[in-house]
Amino acid sequence: MMSSALLKLFRSTGSYLLAISRHSIFRPHSIRGIPVPKTDHERAAAARDLLKAAFGERVITADDPTSRPMVALTTPWSTTCHLPSAAYFQPVSAAEVSTALSIITKTQCKFAVRATGHNPNPGFSSTREDGVILDLQLLNDKSFDPETGIASLGAGNTWGEVYTWLEGKGRSVMGGRYEEIGVAGFVLGGGMPGFVNLRGMGCDQVRGFEVVLGDGHTVHCSAEVRPGLYRALKGGGSNFGVVTTFYLQTYPLLKTQYTVSLYKPDDYANIIEASVATHKEMETDVQAAYFTNVHRDFVAIGQLYADTPEEEPKVFEPFRKLESMMAPVVPKTDGTLSTLAQAIGHRPPKGKRTIFTISTKVDKALYLAIHKIWQDITATLPPSSDGTDLHYTIQPVTASAARAGRDNGTGGNALGLQEVSQNWCVFTLEYPRDGDDVVHQAAMDRLYEQVKAAAEERGLLLDFVCPTFADKRQDVLRGFGEENVGLIKEVAAKYDGEGVFQKLQYGGFLVRDL
Ligand SMILES: Cc1cc2nc3c(=O)[nH]c(=O)nc-3n(C[C@H](O)[C@H](O)[C@H](O)COP(=O)(O)OP(=O)(O)OC[C@H]3O[C@@H](n4cnc5c(N)ncnc54)[C@H](O)[C@@H]3O)c2cc1C
Repeated sequence: MMSSALLKLFRSTGSYLLAISRHSIFRPHSIRGIPVPKTDHERAAAARDLLKAAFGERVITADDPTSRPMVALTTPWSTTCHLPSAAYFQPVSAAEVSTALSIITKTQCKFAVRATGHNPNPGFSSTREDGVILDLQLLNDKSFDPETGIASLGAGNTWGEVYTWLEGKGRSVMGGRYEEIGVAGFVLGGGMPGFVNLRGMGCDQVRGFEVVLGDGHTVHCSAEVRPGLYRALKGGGSNFGVVTTFYLQTYPLLKTQYTVSLYKPDDYANIIEASVATHKEMETDVQAAYFTNVHRDFVAIGQLYADTPEEEPKVFEPFRKLESMMAPVVPKTDGTLSTLAQAIGHRPPKGKRTIFTISTKVDKALYLAIHKIWQDITATLPPSSDGTDLHYTIQPVTASAARAGRDNGTGGNALGLQEVSQNWCVFTLEYPRDGDDVVHQAAMDRLYEQVKAAAEERGLLLDFVCPTFADKRQDVLRGFGEENVGLIKEVAAKYDGEGVFQKLQYGGFLVRDL
């Protein structure tokens, strides 16, 4: 009832688009004299109707008879995020994002922003029927300026699309390791590229952002213009506005060499020793990267190099000495970032997923202790044949990764990385769609507490929690350090004075939770 009353009002006053113009102000109690709906569901219905009136078929609802709603509903990587939102709106321009935000603020409807939905925390890029989603996948423009080497990328692009397009121009950009993940969520969460030690984080590649603010205005920021907003966005996520375009520094085509092999899991002590030894070597060879991904039935080790040397890089010698190799799944290949992303990417079956991460200093005894904790908790879970897979990945980061972000002349990022050799260990639990969330989450919670305690009691735990791998309950923003938290709070207050992204946004690592 209320939503159709709102619609009538906007129509009767001439044009609802005029009524929701960019200069609209946040009115908590009424819209042109009519009280805003009282419940979240009513507000979402009002926003849905206004969005439909303004944008027609680009607003999808769960009850649409076509197949498009299914596409929108099943996009998220984890099925825990397949929630039926009141509406999914797919804007094609910053101006449309602005209009949508005006509708959201007028109706005071809860909302979430989705690029590709790869974040597995329910509520980060998904809502229930009491909210609407701004799904940015149609914002996929790309352009390249050969003079500056800067690529302008719409927020709906994925790394796979960007790598292939740029490589056609003989250029590369430091982005994610998987083709399907979004430029937007990756960069706003700091983003750990495949070769993080070479040029720092994904956010360190940004030379500017185009952002639609909560009041509907579109602004640009860079090291010179609005430098506070620019720096805060480099890791500070969705606290300030909807980023519609990312301006990223590109480099001459990066050649890569890589191989991925599977090893026997009972050789874990030697595998851990080799991982630690390789990490130490990487401090003096920043072209190297690896991952050690430990499962119950196998350990996958990826050796990645940012060049195509004739001789196998010395840095990987400790892995070559392992005698437990079962099979090479990706034979040694000379390629590029796009072929690397294709080679290591995989499309797993739909299922539930939950993750967390901890950052620690590099230490063999700690890694062995973590492995033991993981083994004990894994033993309490259903077998892998049932589709349950609790796995962890050692992700080495050298001191130079922190330096690269700090010293690239753009004023640094908001992540507060310490210049030490560190491991951003990420734990992922995958389980079937009908799996019991409470039981599985309880196992993850036990794992988190014990792993964190093991690192803490050895004095090896770091405050930093990488946002792109974090569980929603982790204290991500505080981990950036006091100064950066201060910056993020100040910038959020300055550019979102009405608190649209704090009060109405469904989830995220937000200032409101500090
Ligand atoms: C298979 C796989 C591989 C991965 N590999 C890596 C990796 O190599 N390195 C790494 O660091 N991470 C990696 N990740 C993690 C990934 O980067 C994060 O899940 C990231 O949040 C995904 O971003 P998205 O845009 O794809 O997802 P989404 O879920 O759509 O968005 C993530 C968050 O960003 C917000 N957001 C998205 N777009 C905008 C915008 N334009 N403006 C404001 N807020 C926005 C959303 O509201 C949400 O809170 C991987 C994840 C998966 C599933």
